[in-house]
This record gives sequence, C-alpha cells and structure tokens, in this order.
Amino acid sequence: MTLRCPSCHGAQQRTLDSISRQALLNGYERSFQIDVGPHVSAEATTIDLLECADCSLRWYSPLSTGGPDFYEALQKYDWYYQGEKPEYKHAASMIAGAASVLDVGCGRGAFASFLSGGQHYRGLEFNQVAVRKAKAEGLDVIVRSIEAEAEINPAAYDVVCHFQVLEHVEDPLGFMAACTRALKPGGTLMVTVPAEDSYLALVPNGWLNMPPHHLTRWTDKAIHHLVRKLGLTMMDIWHEPVADFHMASYRQVMSGFAVRDSLGIKARLQDPSLANRIANRIARMPALNGWLVKRGESHFGFSGRGNSVCFAARKRPSSLQIHPIDASHSTASTTLAGQDVIAGSGVPVEGQSRLRSGLRDIARLVVLRLCASGAGTSKGR
Ligand SMILES: [Zn+2]
Repeated sequence: MTLRCPSCHGAQQRTLDSISRQALLNGYERSFQIDVGPHVSAEATTIDLLECADCSLRWYSPLSTGGPDFYEALQKYDWYYQGEKPEYKHAASMIAGAASVLDVGCGRGAFASFLSGGQHYRGLEFNQVAVRKAKAEGLDVIVRSIEAEAEINPAAYDVVCHFQVLEHVEDPLGFMAACTRALKPGGTLMVTVPAEDSYLALVPNGWLNMPPHHLTRWTDKAIHHLVRKLGLTMMDIWHEPVADFHMASYRQVMSGFAVRDSLGIKARLQDPSLANRIANRIARMPALNGWLVKRGESHFGFSGRGNSVCFAARKRPSSLQIHPIDASHSTASTTLAGQDVIAGSGVPVEGQSRLRSGLRDIARLVVLRLCASGAGTSKGR
C-alpha cells in the first residue's frame, strides 16, 4: 500500500527515524504512568517518523491516535490544560469588533477570556468534563466535530481558530478543510501548532511529541503548503519566543545539541547509547553549561524560538480554489527550506564537518575548566 502524506497526499517520503513500539510504551509508562498500548497499533513493531518530499510535513507511521481515556489520563497533570498560552494574546490581538469566533478543540474555553469583548464565541470540544466546566462559566461550548459544525453552519464565522489541536488529528487536510468551510468568505483561520522549526525538533525522549499524542510535526514550509492547498492566503506567521517556564529545558537542549553536534551524534527520538549518555553528562557540567548554550545557539538555525508557531490565513471572498504549491511563497522564517538537512537535527549537512572540530574545543575546555576550578565541579552533582 502506498503511504500518502496526511497533509498534501504526496506519495514520496523519507524515513528520518524509527522507534520500537515497546520503547514508546515504556517511555509513556515511565514518564506519565500511562499505558498507551491500547492506543498504538499492535500490528506495528516499530513507529517511523517520516518526512514528506513535497511539503516537508513530518508524521508518524502508522498514525495511532489516543482515545478519550488517554486524554483523561493526561488531565491528572495540572500543566496539561494551560489556562494561559502565549499564543492566546497574540491571536486575540488580531480579533476586533463584533466578530463571530469558533474555537475548535477549545478545552475549557480559556481563549474566550482573552477576547476584548463584543465578539460571539462558540467552542467545540469532545471532553465532557471540560465542556461542563466551560458551560459553568457561561460559555457557549458544545460537543460537536468541526465537520458536523461546518455542515450545520457553513460559512458562518469570521474567525475559526484552534490552538495545539492540528498535531493530534489523523487527517489534518480534512480537518482544516472543514474549518475553512465554516469560515465566511474573507474570514480568518488562526492556528497554533508546536514548532518543528525550533529546539523541539532536537528533544530526545519527547514522548508527548510522539503517538498517540502528536501524530504530525509542522515545519514552516509544511504550514505554507497546507495554507496554499486550502486556497487560503497567508496573513501572518509568528514564532513565540522561548517562554520563561520553558527556558531551563531550552538551555538544556541547546547545551546537549552543542555537545552532540560536535561529536557527530544525530538527534534521535530516543537514544540510549553510551555516546549519548556521555554527551548528556558533558552538557550538564555547570562549568561548561553557559558556554555550551551559546555555542549551541550559534550553530542552530532556529535558536531563540519557543515551542509554538502561530499563523493566520484568510479565506478568499470567492469560493475555494486549489492552487499549485508555489515554492517562492516561503518567508524569511523558512530559511532552511531547500537545504539538505540532517534528519531531526535541523542542521545543514555542510555545517556538520565544521562543527565536528568543536570536539577538540570541548575536550580542551573541559580540562582547562576542571584544572582551574575544581571546587566548581563538586557543586554540580
Ligand atoms: Zn506532504
């Protein structure tokens, strides 16, 4: 059977990485005490991370999505449903007047409180607990799919938005097409997804960025292709800066990237190798950390970018038109498009050999720092 990209339906792709089904199950169990066995296809022994040759979407095969009880289990963690996401403010700043707003996968309807007032807000959500909480706040939130809403109320909304939803759905093209049908002509679609053109692409053991939680990973190039395929016009694409509460993990990832890159170790979904463990040990050394973070940032094309990318696209006043993809449409934020990129690392191949020489720098620095400040290392346990 021919594998098709779930966004552009292209048939050409390459495998960036693979993880065994058992390693995935172990990872969720160890990190979240959740058994994802019932949610990950039992027919596959490995799950592959693929990249579409046409639109650069990264997706997992097989596509295994989590059922309601998986999301119920995640809700025991307070951090799962954030009441305030950095993108809420950004999106709300673009909505004015008496606009009708449809929030798809709205959770408890937290975005409504960021609107300036005067808008008509409706939310769609499958989680019954979240819907009850939203209704208790007086919000118009109902249990309904976007496909059903677009059927019942076509071309009804000035704004259709969803925040951190697209990466969870099996059919992103069908989902976005339904969102577009619900938009009035001239209306605006606002979407936030985890940014693959950011340090997130380098995080090892990032279980929540894998099935059955996330099924797709969105580069800026993939976003532009999808917008064009839907016949929409891109209005705005914005990368949030690293949030304060993510700064510690960002620094850890940048530091680890600097060491691994210098050693020629590729970013993997999971890497239990001895070389990777040694790299992690070096990256955590307090005497080196600041220098390594700077080094990582200077060699990583997307340093300073936070977890999310937010984009807004407008529906044309006339009926939907499908246009061929126009490569020249990419913006400055997709500067790596077209270059040969190391799988999962986001680093041009050309930079790898140059960086490998950094191994010598690191070894030299380790020796110098340890000799100069032996006391400093004893604090780093
Ligand atoms: Zn594609």
